[in-house]
Amino acid sequence: MAIKRAQVVILGSGCAGLTAAIYTARANLSPVVLEGREAGGQLMWTTTVENFPGFPEGVLGPDLIDNMRKQAQKFGADTRFEHADEVDFSKRPFVIRTSDAEYHADSVIIATGATAKTLGLPSEMHFMGSGVSTCATCDGAFYKGKVVALVGGGDSAAEEATFLTRFADKVYLIHRRDRLRASKIMADRLLANPKVIPLWNTAVEDVIGSEEPHRHVTGIRIKNLDSGNVSEMAIDGLFLAIGHKPNTEVFGEQLAKTEGGFLLTRSAMAWKGTASDPAWSETYPNYATSTSSEGVFACGDVVDTHYRQAITAAGTGCASALDCEKWLESLHKS
Ligand code: NAP
Repeated sequence: MAIKRAQVVILGSGCAGLTAAIYTARANLSPVVLEGREAGGQLMWTTTVENFPGFPEGVLGPDLIDNMRKQAQKFGADTRFEHADEVDFSKRPFVIRTSDAEYHADSVIIATGATAKTLGLPSEMHFMGSGVSTCATCDGAFYKGKVVALVGGGDSAAEEATFLTRFADKVYLIHRRDRLRASKIMADRLLANPKVIPLWNTAVEDVIGSEEPHRHVTGIRIKNLDSGNVSEMAIDGLFLAIGHKPNTEVFGEQLAKTEGGFLLTRSAMAWKGTASDPAWSETYPNYATSTSSEGVFACGDVVDTHYRQAITAAGTGCASALDCEKWLESLHKS
């Protein structure tokens, strides 16, 4: 297997990874970007992005990513459609294996993002993309004049269910508790919308549909968690907004993570008030995006349980690149 030496290997090619690539390339670090299985990240599933600064008319998610990739390549980033199957961060140079090559890297920037969670029903996967969706922004417009249901109770659920009312005639909001965890302003706005019908203490047990004339959803089976009653209801589409799972499995126990599997960085520790831990505050005093392994940095949705915006991912991607550059410089000085 080919062995390639690199000063920086960046894992992931969403907003965070590509911004880190632009910055490290401009610092003459010749980054190698392993784009991962979902090259481009979550923006590839989005239509118009209206809140990325600098685009008053909005910009298509895939176009934004394509431009970021071209910008990184222009400054010398080597972008590859490869996926890290195995990593070894126990010693330097760090080792990253893909199906094509083995990379030996002085430093690593992790920007592997997060993937939308699903309910775990076989029928939900069967109809995924044919009536079941994890992205209201991407698929909402297909449901003009129709009846849809959305599962979830957080800010994403509130935001996406409100968005769906632009198109659908009725939006059932299905939540397993009797109140939303979404912020009050978003929850109030949602529940005041006459198109929204909340179904509290309710779980989706099955997705029902047909293969004729093409695969589509016709309804769901739901269970009232108080009474245990099971019933069927007719809907045209089911949306899931039940959170995201960080793509951190490949790192195993090699890096510190939150309970939910998001990577912990020094800035996250400072935020939680635990940065006084000497292992974090003394070893890497100046690198907010450092993970628990010196020389490995992380940015974007793989560390972000809160903001999850394209612009914040780009911002932390930039911070990771600057931290990485400074840290590599410090190696040469010592
Ligand atoms: P979240 O806050 O983790 O909420 C996930 C929701 O899905 C919860 O209500 C949870 O129920 C429910 N859920 C999880 N697994 C489920 C399952 N298997 N079956 C049924 N329901 C399930 O996730 P999020 O809404 O994606 O938000 C993530 C973060 O991004 C939050 O910090 C949020 O504030 C932030 N965010 C902010 C904005 C904004 O400010 N504009 C927009 C979107 C997201 P329980 O309540 O029972 O746990």
